[in-house]
Amino acid sequence: MENAPTFRETAVELFALRDEAGPILYAPLGQLMARVNESAASCALAYAADHAVLAKMSADERAVVDELAAHGFFDEQPLPQGDGAFQPTQVTLFPTNRCNLRCSYCYAFGGEGGASGEPLVEMDPAVARAAIDLVAGNARTLVDEGNDVRSFIVSIHGNGEPFCAFGLMREIVRYGREASERVGIPVVFNTATNGVLTDEQLAFVAENFDSVNFSFDGLPAFQDANRPMAGGGGSFAAIDRSMRALQEAGVPFGIRTTVTADMVKRMPDIVAFVADHYPAAEQIHFEPVWECGRCTTSADAMPGAAAFTESYRASLAVARGRGMKLVYSGARQDLVCDAFCKVGNGGFTVTPSGDVTACYEVSYSSDPRSRRFFFGRYDVLAGRFVFDRKKLAELALLNVRNYPYCRDCFCKWHCAGDCAAKVLDGIAPHEHAGSSRCEVNRALTLDQIRDKLDWNPPEERGNADDR
Ligand code: SF4
Ligand code: SF4
Ligand code: SF4
Repeated sequence: MENAPTFRETAVELFALRDEAGPILYAPLGQLMARVNESAASCALAYAADHAVLAKMSADERAVVDELAAHGFFDEQPLPQGDGAFQPTQVTLFPTNRCNLRCSYCYAFGGEGGASGEPLVEMDPAVARAAIDLVAGNARTLVDEGNDVRSFIVSIHGNGEPFCAFGLMREIVRYGREASERVGIPVVFNTATNGVLTDEQLAFVAENFDSVNFSFDGLPAFQDANRPMAGGGGSFAAIDRSMRALQEAGVPFGIRTTVTADMVKRMPDIVAFVADHYPAAEQIHFEPVWECGRCTTSADAMPGAAAFTESYRASLAVARGRGMKLVYSGARQDLVCDAFCKVGNGGFTVTPSGDVTACYEVSYSSDPRSRRFFFGRYDVLAGRFVFDRKKLAELALLNVRNYPYCRDCFCKWHCAGDCAAKVLDGIAPHEHAGSSRCEVNRALTLDQIRDKLDWNPPEERGNADDR
C-alpha cells in the first residue's frame, strides 16, 4: 500500500466521553462506541486500567464488563505507525511562487516571495522531471517487490498559482505520462488552483487532471475582498467562470474555503450558495484561517473555536440536505493514524527553487521553520535529488506518540496531534501544547461519534416514518 501505516505494537485504549444523553464509551483504535450509564462507564474504565479489579466487582458490574468484552472493548488493538522507509510514490510540485492574486491571508505571501521577499522564480523543468522519475521509479520498485501500489501521484499546487507557470504545467503532465508508460504504472494528477484561468488552461485541466480543487471563499463579496487580483479588483467573476466551465465540461471538483472571523457566521450560506450555483462541487473543505504569512499583516483574524464549531454544525445540516460533503481537517473519526499528515514520513514536496520540504506551508529557505522541514534538494551537478537522512529521522518524530499533551485526548489516533507547522512552531515535539483548534477538533469528532451512535439503517427510518 502507498504510505499505508503498518501495525507493530498493540494497546487497549478506552475513553469515557459525555454528551447531554450521558456517557459514551469509546475505543478509538477499534472505533468501537457505546452509550452506557455512569456506573458502566466507571466499571469499564477501571477494568481497562487494571483487570485485577474484576475480583472486587459485584455480579452486576462483572456482567457489564463481560458484555463490553464480548464486543471487543478490551481487546488489544494495533497501534498505527507510519512507514519508516522514505520511498515516496507521490510528489507535490510547486511550479512557481508567482501569483495573479494577493489573498489577504496567504500563508506564503504568494506573488511576493514569502516573508523575506525572495525572488519570484519558476521551477527548472529538469527538477520536475527528476522528481517524477523518482516517484515513478519507486512505484515500479515497490510493485516488483510485491507491494500493492496501483499508481504514482503527481500533485501540483504551490506557494504561488501553478497556472502562472502554464508551460511548465504542460511539461509536467507530458513527462508524467511518458514516465507512466516507461514504468508501466498509471499516473494520477491532482491540482489546486485559485481559479483565475484562461479557456486554454481550463481545457487542459478538464483533459488531464484526476482531481481539481478550487480555493474559493464561498460568497462573491468574501471572494472579492479576501482574494483580490494582483493588479486590484475582485476575482469572483474569474473563478465563477472557471467553475462553471468545468461544470459544463462534466468535471467534478472540490472547493477549499478559508474561514476568517468575519466570515464564520456565513458558513451555512456559503454551503447553500455553492450547492445552488456549482452542483459539480463534490465537497467544501472549511478551514479556519491560521494567523501566519500575509494574514499577520492584514485585518483577517482566526474565528473563535466555539463560533467555528457552531457554524460548522449548521453548515453540515445544510450540506446534508443538499447532498454535499463537508470537510474540516481536524475532525476525521474514520481515520486511525499516528500523524496528522505525511510530514513525519517526509512528504515529498519540491519548491520552485528545487528544495525539498515535508510541509506545504514552509517553502522558503529564509523561513526559520525550514530548518525542521527542509530535508533535501535537487543537486544540479548530479542531476538528481539528495536527501538528508538525519533530517528525515527528526521528521519521523513528528507524530502523536511524541506529544505528551495529546496522550489523554480521545482524538489522539484521529487528529494525531494536528498540523505540526501550526502547533510546533519553534518548539520541540514534547513541548506541543495544543491550540485553539483542539476545542474544534474534539467537538466535531464527538459529533461524528454521536452521528454513528444515532444512525438508523434506512429500513428502520422507513418504519419509524410509517408509524
Ligand atoms: S492564490 Fe494562493 S498563492 Fe496566490 S495569494 Fe492566494 S493563497 Fe497565496
Ligand atoms: S505540517 Fe501542517 S501545513 Fe505542513 S503539510 Fe502537514 S498539515 Fe500541511
Ligand atoms: S490534544 Fe489537540 S492536537 Fe492533540 S490529538 Fe487532541 S485535539 Fe489533536
